[in-house]
Amino acid sequence: MESPFLRPATVLAVRNWIPDTMREIDLHLPDCDMSRWTTAQHLKCKVGALAYRDYTPSGWDVETQTCTLIIHIAHSGPGSRWVRRLEAGDTIYYLGAKSSHHQLTKDRPMVFLGDETTIGHFQALRQMAGKDAYISGAIGLVESHHHQEFGEYFPDWNVEPLQKRDAHDHHELSGWIEGLKPSDHSDTVFYLAGHIPSIIGMRKLLRQRGFAGSQVQAQGFWD
Ligand SMILES: Cc1cc2nc3c(=O)[nH]c(=O)nc-3n(C[C@H](O)[C@H](O)[C@H](O)COP(=O)(O)OP(=O)(O)OC[C@H]3O[C@@H](n4cnc5c(N)ncnc54)[C@H](O)[C@@H]3O)c2cc1C
Repeated sequence: MESPFLRPATVLAVRNWIPDTMREIDLHLPDCDMSRWTTAQHLKCKVGALAYRDYTPSGWDVETQTCTLIIHIAHSGPGSRWVRRLEAGDTIYYLGAKSSHHQLTKDRPMVFLGDETTIGHFQALRQMAGKDAYISGAIGLVESHHHQEFGEYFPDWNVEPLQKRDAHDHHELSGWIEGLKPSDHSDTVFYLAGHIPSIIGMRKLLRQRGFAGSQVQAQGFWD
């Protein structure tokens, strides 16, 4: 049985990065009260017959009820096939918005560590944290041209794009963590998201380097 709780949204625009394995989808969600959002959300989108995938709204506007999904589609799966077919004017359906496990810790420096699938999520955390938040970090990207787009789309980010060999590689992210001086980060909270085995590896490394468990928040997106 299809869920009776499905809500409609309209695709306003679709933008591709180069190569087009990253796609931005602007949406209008007429049934969504974004003023209630207190942390990053994810929309459970219907991507096929009884198939649902989670995507993170970023850059939302409470008044116009619009937001942007930033989606990685380099692999083959029902979600990426669905995203490839989307065009402006399409109606999509989702099962409401749910909160992320990542809790904002106000007035503490934040470090974001993730992959292509986490760019929207970290944008959302940044939007919540406000202009004065001190944010740094690194995102592993497979496509070298995506480093350029990342820089152009997010010029004021102190979050570095790092080169990855493949989607499962977190070697460079681990190197970035090794370069941190723990004494400079006694108050920092680390937000890890994306590829689950990479998150597990990075969490372990942070703990080995002396960071407390309470300083590391992890949310797996895919494996
Ligand atoms: C809370 C939450 C928020 C999320 N937000 C976003 C978001 O904003 N943007 C986004 O792009 N994704 C996001 N994701 C991840 C997205 O929901 C998953 O990647 C999704 O499973 C992909 O679905 P699919 O049908 O394309 O592939 P699946 O059917 O899940 O997987 C098919 C194959 O592709 C592999 N695979 C899956 N994802 C990737 C990938 N990114 N790179 C390489 N191989 C992959 C799998 O290991 C599997 O072998 C989020 C996930 C969660 C849990």
